[in-house]
Amino acid sequence: MSPLTVKLSTPITGNFTLNTGLFINNEFVAGAEGKTFDVINPSTEDVICAVHEATEKDVDIAVAAARKAFEGPWSKIVPQDRGILMNKLADLAEKNAELLAAVESIDNGKSINMARGDVAAVVATLRYYGGWADKIEGKTIDISPDMFHYTRNEPIGVCGQIIPWNFPLLMLAWKFGPALATGNTVVLKTAEQTPLSALALAPLIKEAGFPPGVLNIITGFGKVAGAAISSHMDIDKVAFTGSTAVGRTIMMAAAGSNLKKVTLELGGKSPNIVFNDADIDEAINWVNFGIYFNHGQCCCAGSRIYVQEGIYDKFIAAFKARAEENKVGDPFHEETFQGPQVSQLQFDRIMSYVKSGKDEGATVITGGDRHGNKGYFIQPTIFADVSQDMKIMKEEIFGPVAAVAKFKDIDEVIALGNDSNYGLAAAVHTKDLNTAIRVSNALRAGTVWVNCYNALHHQLPFGGYKESGIGRELGEAALANYTQNKSVAIKLN
Ligand code: NAD
Repeated sequence: MSPLTVKLSTPITGNFTLNTGLFINNEFVAGAEGKTFDVINPSTEDVICAVHEATEKDVDIAVAAARKAFEGPWSKIVPQDRGILMNKLADLAEKNAELLAAVESIDNGKSINMARGDVAAVVATLRYYGGWADKIEGKTIDISPDMFHYTRNEPIGVCGQIIPWNFPLLMLAWKFGPALATGNTVVLKTAEQTPLSALALAPLIKEAGFPPGVLNIITGFGKVAGAAISSHMDIDKVAFTGSTAVGRTIMMAAAGSNLKKVTLELGGKSPNIVFNDADIDEAINWVNFGIYFNHGQCCCAGSRIYVQEGIYDKFIAAFKARAEENKVGDPFHEETFQGPQVSQLQFDRIMSYVKSGKDEGATVITGGDRHGNKGYFIQPTIFADVSQDMKIMKEEIFGPVAAVAKFKDIDEVIALGNDSNYGLAAAVHTKDLNTAIRVSNALRAGTVWVNCYNALHHQLPFGGYKESGIGRELGEAALANYTQNKSVAIKLN
């Protein structure tokens, strides 16, 4: 049998032991078919370790564990105590923050400071939803003196959760938080590119005192374990974050199996709009952060940048200078802003978009090539004079590639901003409150930022219009994804 632990080392943690099995019923176990797969360090292209691969059988085992916990111990724990357990998990994640961040950096390639930021957000999200656990309430509804009517918000049951590789631990917290607060149990599948931080967190679930089976974490591939989750007959709800193409597959699998409830957090091609009257230095900082944060691997990346004609030339020159300041390199260097892309596949996808931008006649202002000759690093890239019909303006690139275009007036830019199948996020930079509000109201996007970018917060709902998704994560809104409403009508004597 393949080993269930591995010895690893990172520049900031020294040596440590990581579990590599599937976390089911609070124990690490080998996959039923004995398969493993390699996890690659995107900075060096070397294998970090092998982890166990979940197949359909393992999904069945994990679902059975989650069902047993849902009907047994978890249903008997009062809401307040659910909240206490969630807070304990948050405390333990905080105590182990440096280890979790280091594991995230080595596996995903994000800079250690961004990984630390992710872990802090994980802790905050778990605490926030821990606070909700004893505030899930129904209503009494006055209909007739001869009847008593009330509603209950009950948990949905066993939830399948499938997460991506761009924010591995944070996406786990966004999914665990509302599911646990509302009394559900979970089978979560990590992305095959980045399973390690969830495995580092898993022992803390047991240590916090969660009953076995409440939170199960499996590592495996989308087409096998992910597909088994979305078509499983005993999973009551599936929550997914990832590509729009896979989102469609998941919805079809849910429809073709037991009509499990579906929430989807999908792709985007978000417009970032800069008006003539914006504070240009501020705007450039936010535009830079909007597209290059997390190496452009953000569903809400501000990848379509529309700049009003009066400042266009000045903006391009200043944006070039700003992008060239971004430190690209080893994620473990404290000053690094941009590490490698997550995988060879993503590197190749992004470079093919860069080629298509060049072929279609957009102007490369900076970048446009690989950075260095080892690891999946790509230069921060700016294309200017990009027309609306070019591939780089229409499709999600998911890399450090900005497409910039000029606009004349507010009506034109609203039309351009809305000219997309996506509708996840948008931003507008202006000093005029009327412009800010008119544009924010007119854009068909789940989030609009004014004079900032990526200002996400666990208290604020996040999710997509159009093909960017179904449902909202974060905030009170996410709780509705994990409860179902029951009406009770009692006839009085
Ligand atoms: P993906 O959608 O294939 O993977 C995301 C998750 O879905 C992973 O856990 C994967 O194992 C799982 N999955 C894949 N196929 C599945 C299936 N048939 N059934 C169930 N689960 C399945 O994303 P990717 O291929 O890693 O990246 C491709 C593109 O997706 C990226 O270039 C980017 O545009 C987009 N993406 C978006 C997000 C986001 O946050 N919205 C995250 C990652 C990737």
